[in-house]
Amino acid sequence: MSHLPPSSRILITSGPTREYLDPVRFLTNASSGRMGVALTEAVLEYGDVPVVVSGPISRSYPKNAEVHWVETTAQMLQCCETLFPTCEGVIGAAAPCDFKPMVFSEQKLTKSDTSIEFLLRLESTPDILAALGRKKRPNQWILGFALETKNDRERALEKLRRKNCDFIALNGPESIDHEDATLEVFDDRGRLVVILAGKKRQLATELLTLMKEKYETAKPSGKLARG
Ligand code: C5P
Repeated sequence: MSHLPPSSRILITSGPTREYLDPVRFLTNASSGRMGVALTEAVLEYGDVPVVVSGPISRSYPKNAEVHWVETTAQMLQCCETLFPTCEGVIGAAAPCDFKPMVFSEQKLTKSDTSIEFLLRLESTPDILAALGRKKRPNQWILGFALETKNDRERALEKLRRKNCDFIALNGPESIDHEDATLEVFDDRGRLVVILAGKKRQLATELLTLMKEKYETAKPSGKLARG
């Protein structure tokens, strides 16, 4: 298997984001960033440059990766919008918070501030891949993930289209914070191209191989046009 062009920069979103209620409390999810770390290692293995935009995780990225740390979904979006034009493609392995509290309390909320029932009003956060999908150039690609608990394939394909992805990898909640995963990978026409199962590190290499194959068939010269 040959490598992508040496200067290929591949944007990877990774880990969870946080949405604060007050200075010390936040909404988040159980994403460990394992898939993001595995993808970063796989990109390096190919001789490419991983450009990681990561929410807070306890694992570390390889030392030679370019890592941009963020906390909130809005920060992750802003960082990705700046970096995406410099990258050949993006892999959306992050689990950004989809909702944030409508009101942020500058002071720490105390029990006396709230009645027994505390109503937390939420609003939607921006969708990062959808925003990048709207700006995608013809020579850029997007690989999204979809984590579903019901109507899995239908929902994954809806996300594929809405976010203008070239591929989407569908997995279930059992893959959160685990070393292993099973991924059903669909292409931009909604065709199931492969089912991958095993260690996330191995899956990361297999996903990158798929991207490489797409890029090679899309570019007759075998070189990715820049521009
Ligand atoms: O969480 P969900 O299954 O909807 O995520 C689908 C894809 O969209 C994933 O690749 C995820 O990284 C991305 N996403 C995003 N911005 C969000 C929510 C999800 O980029 N706010």
